Amino acid sequence: MILTELTGSCLCGSVKYRVNTVVHKFYFCHCEQCRKITGSAFASNILTEPSEINWLSGSKKIKRFDYPGEKSYTKVFCSECGSGLPFLNERGTTLIVPAGSLDGDCGLIPDNNIFWSDKAAWYEEGISAEKCDEFPA
Ligand SMILES: [Zn+2]
Ligand SMILES: [Zn+2]
Repeated sequence: MILTELTGSCLCGSVKYRVNTVVHKFYFCHCEQCRKITGSAFASNILTEPSEINWLSGSKKIKRFDYPGEKSYTKVFCSECGSGLPFLNERGTTLIVPAGSLDGDCGLIPDNNIFWSDKAAWYEEGISAEKCDEFPA
């Protein structure tokens, strides 16, 4: 069991965190709920051992939303800027760290694209579209 230190923050910089945990999986989830909750093509979630999140700043700005359906979807986010932040799932079995919230390179590589058949209709064309380092001229 290798402990990995993950540190991250929200866009506005109010919330900062650090967690030392055991990483289990790193998934890109393409399900509809993850697309909605991120507003993007997929959620990039690092699934880890339940571990204490050390909130270095901004803990009062953290909000939690638990989707009231049968399947559980949760978003923990900065109430100032809306950025996704780590959270313990409702059953308390997994700590989920949104990879995009990490500062720097965590050195982890995604394991799987899950719920692939639910992916956005425009996803595959999107990733093969022309690559530009800035807005195209
Ligand atoms: Zn923020
Ligand atoms: Zn999902």
